[in-house]
Amino acid sequence: MNIGFIGLGTMGRPMAEHLHRAGYTLSVYNRSRSKAEGWQGAAPVRIAESPLEVAQQSDIVFTMLTDDAAVEEVYLGAEGIAAACKAVDEGDGAARKPRIVADCSTISPVTSKKLAEILAGYGVRMLDAPVTGSEPQAIEGVLTFIVGGPKEAYEQCLPLFDKMGKKAVYMGASGAGTNAKLANNMLVAANLMALSESLMMIRQAGEDPELFLEVVAGGGARSGMAEMKGPKIVNRDFSAQFMTQLMHKDLKLAERLAESLQVPVPVLASVKQMFQIACNSGWGAEDMSAVAKCYETWTGTLIGNSAEKS
Ligand code: NAP
Repeated sequence: MNIGFIGLGTMGRPMAEHLHRAGYTLSVYNRSRSKAEGWQGAAPVRIAESPLEVAQQSDIVFTMLTDDAAVEEVYLGAEGIAAACKAVDEGDGAARKPRIVADCSTISPVTSKKLAEILAGYGVRMLDAPVTGSEPQAIEGVLTFIVGGPKEAYEQCLPLFDKMGKKAVYMGASGAGTNAKLANNMLVAANLMALSESLMMIRQAGEDPELFLEVVAGGGARSGMAEMKGPKIVNRDFSAQFMTQLMHKDLKLAERLAESLQVPVPVLASVKQMFQIACNSGWGAEDMSAVAKCYETWTGTLIGNSAEKS
């Protein structure tokens, strides 16, 4: 089976490497070609010139792209995935199309559903399959996939999800995966803000933030954010695993979803403002743990002892 992978950024490259290590023949595309090069190992990797070429060379295609605009371009652009499907439909004997495409990007469920519908028109099944976990989990191969779309396509992709992750949850119809991903990221961001606020308070009280993280780990306030981002904040290591600007994008998408459902979201609204401030302060390309710097700016005190590492 040939697997395609489009978008070899922070997350996509390690994900594709797991499939490569598992022995799958890959066809890959990245807009900046340098990120598509340098594969080690026996299984062949074809570096394609366009998403269209990947689609023609693959049975199943994964995409891992920045945002809605990037996904729309890769799927619907002149050199996109849908163009490959259209060529087959129009009777081009040499053309080929994939059976399944799985978009792992975090985007709007409206876009996920729209693209799934367009591809279904070409007889191609599309899954929205965003992930939880960040760069370290992508490298370790322990992501969680949150999947919406045709169930039999999900079942066919399970062995592939298994190579890149520790778990896959089938949420339901198209868009269900992206709905759940946005709800998840609201929670992640709120947790990170609350953690930053607590860390600053403990710092101003003259206590040791590192010891405080041990306290948090031992009780009901423990969380993935305290575990993964607490040490980054305390060590002032804001090197990007998940960029502040990407979380800000997710919070805007979540707000739009909440609005369409008429759900009041006061926590999300203030958390989104904090990420807006962080982006405006020039920390958009840093790790999302950089939102803690808002508190540092407001108080004139650093949470950690060390100089910034990023
Ligand atoms: P990233 O490192 O910025 O990678 C983004 C990828 O999208 C790059 O390969 C980029 O190509 C490509 N791209 C952007 N615009 C494009 C366009 N118009 N046409 C073609 N390719 C385009 O981002 P990431 O951290 O891997 O995140 C990818 C997605 O996963 C995002 O939706 C993010 O919200 C989500 N996510 C990220 C994390 C995380 O911790 N990082 C965790 C869960 C989910 P170039 O290399 O040419 O720029």
